[in-house]
Amino acid sequence: MEQERRRFDEMKRRVYQVVLPILAVALGMNTVLQAGQAFSLYTNLAILGGVIVCWFLLLTKFPFVITEWTMLTLAGLYLLSMLLQALYFDMLGGGEPSLGDFIIWMPLIVIATFLVLDKRQAAVANGVLLLLLIAPVIPAWGQLDSRQLDSVLLMYIALVVYTFVFYFLNSLYLKSAEQRVLTRYAYLDALTGIANRHQIDLWLTEYIAAGEREGTPFSVLFFDLDHFKCVNDEHGHRTGDDVLKQLAEVVKNELGERDLFGRWGGEEFIVLTCSGENEAAALAERLRAAIEAHHFGSAGRLTASFGIAGNRPDDTPESIQSRADERLYQSKEDGRNRITGWMDK
Ligand code: GH3
Ligand code: MG
Ligand code: MG
Repeated sequence: MEQERRRFDEMKRRVYQVVLPILAVALGMNTVLQAGQAFSLYTNLAILGGVIVCWFLLLTKFPFVITEWTMLTLAGLYLLSMLLQALYFDMLGGGEPSLGDFIIWMPLIVIATFLVLDKRQAAVANGVLLLLLIAPVIPAWGQLDSRQLDSVLLMYIALVVYTFVFYFLNSLYLKSAEQRVLTRYAYLDALTGIANRHQIDLWLTEYIAAGEREGTPFSVLFFDLDHFKCVNDEHGHRTGDDVLKQLAEVVKNELGERDLFGRWGGEEFIVLTCSGENEAAALAERLRAAIEAHHFGSAGRLTASFGIAGNRPDDTPESIQSRADERLYQSKEDGRNRITGWMDK
């Protein structure tokens, strides 16, 4: 989770590094266009300076969250300064009927609050922004004509509506992301990251159906670490867990793209391969040799025993799995670190 958050922060940092220069250019152009008005000239220059400082801070180890808050504050101040400019200079001073084009930036600011803060904080921040935008209008309220009042009210309504919309979009996004994670973990083994038993059952059902329909051969390789209990007893459960993770990596490296691999439970694993038992036996031998050759850190050298079962016309997921299990048991009986298939029975 922490890793995911850091990755998301890194992504945001890169986005800001591109977006801030674009904003700086837009602000610069705006400053030049409004150079005649001292108020907007100075506020734009101050905010432009802030944006440039933030861009440099993004390149340093300065706490990212403070930079993000600074950027949000600058965005809020920009909106506020533009409102003051429009209200006191353009509307009251120049008789302009509406606030002007700057309102088009408001949704961006609302989006930014939901990107930086969690949804409740973002809603509060937008509430504060609304109050900040209402305050300077109060003293001027009586002097605004109806069209000007409409324009100001429209801005408030838009801010409230955008906040609601992004609040619910954010909730919706979080829900669907949560659902995606849940679905993913429903089919994965939490320790090794490979498929879990539920996924293996689905694969077996699928392969058996395809075998019946199209006559495609496949085999189940069922294997189990030898004397794994001793690893736990001698080195502890954590080392045991680490061995299981390493084993998953060693096996993955030996498998072809179409081979399916999962953890059946404990220290028992299954590979499904689209070939008959002879080819499956060759694959099992490669896996057996790779496991035997691997050094499992403090647990040292370990071996595994294999049982292989090719599909038969009347198979069910249970029947093929238990055939492979019986042959694995045979391998254990015969002295472990070996493979048993139909030809050996
Ligand atoms: P054999 O050669 O007959 O397979 O002997 P074994 O000791 O490997 O077999 P046994 O089934 O007696 O022991 C399996 C052990 O695997 C017992 C259990 O504590 C351990 N185990 C099962 N799941 C996990 C796990 O997720 N992590 C760890 N560390 N140990 C596990
Ligand atoms: Mg075992
Ligand atoms: Mg076992």
